[in-house]
Amino acid sequence: MRMVLLGPPGAGKGTQAIRLAERLKLPHISTGDLLRENVKNNTDLGKEAKGYMEKGLLVPDELVAKMLAMRFRQPDTKKGFILDGYPRNLAQAQTLDDLLNGVKMALDLVAYLDSSEAVIIQRLSGRRVCSGCGANFHVKNMPPKAEGICDNCGANLYQRSDDNEETVMVRLQVYQKEAASLIKYYQDQCRLARFNADLDPGIVLNQIIESAKARNDSLKV
Ligand code: AMP
Repeated sequence: MRMVLLGPPGAGKGTQAIRLAERLKLPHISTGDLLRENVKNNTDLGKEAKGYMEKGLLVPDELVAKMLAMRFRQPDTKKGFILDGYPRNLAQAQTLDDLLNGVKMALDLVAYLDSSEAVIIQRLSGRRVCSGCGANFHVKNMPPKAEGICDNCGANLYQRSDDNEETVMVRLQVYQKEAASLIKYYQDQCRLARFNADLDPGIVLNQIIESAKARNDSLKV
């Protein structure tokens, strides 16, 4: 199963991707996580990407494409993947198709998580992320058992520096600028399924799994 999660920041792509990866036993590939790791490790890519990320802007396509191509070369992706945060524009969608065509593969499902602006802002302003395993929490909607500590691995939770109101507004604008053409691209390929991501995350997860099963008979859940 090769799945892409599409949708605005705060729609729950990260949360769903982690749960889907666990249920479907597939690697979760988040370009945002990969970029943040590069920033943390102060790599050349991280140094270039940092300024864009802090402003809520897209990191240049070539840099992200190179990083993704490297990730796809790792053997765990042979059985499929849950891709979150890529593509962000039409050029990236084309790059992804080219990368997969190169190994005679194609996407099975593009899950579009549709969410209202009010819900997005509420979710992002209370989001906390685990510094160890990357799990997402929310101070109100999904609080950890012990404040500031990850339920799964015990590492500290932090608030992403781009989850402040000003940067969130920029990220939403960046998303909206490209969203319609991306959605049309995948609709035309008959790969898109739309989900109401304002609903409870557990309900959305089950709906995505049902849709994935309908598109891939051999899927093991
Ligand atoms: P995310 O974790 O998906 O919200 O991404 C955080 C930030 O990383 C974004 O605001 C961008 O600056 C950068 N980023 C993540 N994925 C991409 C991508 N596919 N193309 C360009 N920039 C990206």
